[in-house]
This record gives sequence, structure tokens and C-alpha cells, in this order.
Amino acid sequence: MRLDRALSVYVFHPAQRAVPARSHGALPILMYHGISDESERGSAYYKVNTGPAVFERQMRFLKERGYSTIALSEAVRLLNRRESPGPRRVVISFDDGYRNFYTHAFPILQKFGFTATMFLPTGYIGENRASFKGIECMTWDEVRELRKAGIEFGSHTVTHPKLVEMNWVDVERELRESRREMETQLGARVTTFAYPFAFPQADPLFVRKFGDALVELGYRCCLTTEVGRARPGDDVYRLKRLPVNSHDDVNLFRAKLEGGYDWLALPQAMVKRVKSFSTQRPR
Ligand SMILES: [Zn+2]
Repeated sequence: MRLDRALSVYVFHPAQRAVPARSHGALPILMYHGISDESERGSAYYKVNTGPAVFERQMRFLKERGYSTIALSEAVRLLNRRESPGPRRVVISFDDGYRNFYTHAFPILQKFGFTATMFLPTGYIGENRASFKGIECMTWDEVRELRKAGIEFGSHTVTHPKLVEMNWVDVERELRESRREMETQLGARVTTFAYPFAFPQADPLFVRKFGDALVELGYRCCLTTEVGRARPGDDVYRLKRLPVNSHDDVNLFRAKLEGGYDWLALPQAMVKRVKSFSTQRPR
């Protein structure tokens, strides 16, 4: 049995729904990676692929429930002003720049009239096709085509490194170079960023310094892997997201959207804390 699903669907979601005020102003930011039926090893919690049919079911669910998408840049503007984006609004985000976004996700998003933000590791996006983790990525031509069709693009570094393990000069280079490359290729400003790998929330010194670097280098927000929904007045340089994959049947998907998954932030933070004690390293 999958514990996080059972607790979310049968305990925390009903509890959340019993107190609607607790959801007031909360904005779900969905986190997708690949849209593919490729099988993955490991527990359901860590999987990152969402099958095209499952993705379509999830998008149809949003449509039927009256959800509309809000562009990330607009959501950040509102959250910064402590304003609620309104009920039944959702941000859809994708990491890693895979080609299956272009071939599988985009047509489905278009079908339902939804928009999304894709975060690119720019070192894997080329004039010619490149791959990241053995999966084909988009080319700049495809990125430009999607941008014209209303998809937002943000930075996900150049090489998709574990930033917390790098020296500071290299961290800043990853932030600066990816943004510069994207702005050159797209001819537009790039202000959104998604943190690659697990966000080092147990390392407040790094988190603060990293947030300062993002501000200095012209970014207006940072999406993380911390689990939960965003709220007006949240620090927009460490926004929580809701991870989604093929295992999100409609009940779990709904529980996540309505706050039934927010409880996971606490055990997630505790695990990270324990891990950080056991892997302390000099920086
Ligand atoms: Zn990534």
C-alpha cells in the first residue's frame, strides 16, 4: 500500500475539505517532467513520468471542475502583492525540456485551452536534437514555436547540476548563462527559475544566499520541489509545488489540488533535515 496516497485521499483531503477557509487563496502549482509511458524504477512517490492518457485525464478533470490556468509570471505578481489568484486557478509547470512536451503534452494543453511554463536546462537544448538522461529534448525551433503559441519558458540552469554541491562562482554561472542563452534564443526576457533536483530546504544559509543571487541576476521567482500549494505572501523564491506522475489517479490528483497533499511538507522537511545532518559537507 502506498502510504502517502492513502493518508492524502482518506485522511487529510476530507479533513481539509471540512474547513474550506484553510484553502482560501491557495494556488496549486503542478510539477510535471516527462509525458511518456516509459516505465521507471523506484517507488511511486519519486517517479516523474506521466503517461499521455493519464495526463489527458488529469487535464480533462481540471476542465470539468472549472479550473483555468494562470501564467506563472502573473501568479507570481499576485502572490507578491498578497493577492489570491482566485479559486479554481492552477499553474502547470514542466521541468527538463523534453521533446515529449512538444509532441504529447502541448496538443492536450491546447485541446483544453490551458497554458503552462516549461523550465529548460539550456545545455541540452540545441539547434540540433540533444538528449538529457537518455531522453530527447526540444530544439530551439520547437521552443520558439511553442512560445508563439503561448507557452512560457523559464530557466532550469545550463547543465542541471546539484547546485548545493557546487562552488558559488559556478552556481552563479549556471544562473547567468542559462538566462542569457534563453533570452538570446527567444528574444524576450526570462524571469522564472525552477530548482533542479531536491531543494536544499534544510540548509537555510544556502537558501538565503541562493535567493539573493536569483534577485541579483534578474529572476523574479524560484519553483522548488518542496511539496504543497503556494499562498499569497509566500516567499516567491521558494515556491512549493505538487509533484504529479502516472500514479495520480483522479482521487489523488483531486486531493493534491484541494490541499490534501500539503501535509507532506512536514515529513519531507524532517527527512531532509536528517539527511543534511548525515551528509554535512564543507562549502
Ligand atoms: Zn530537472
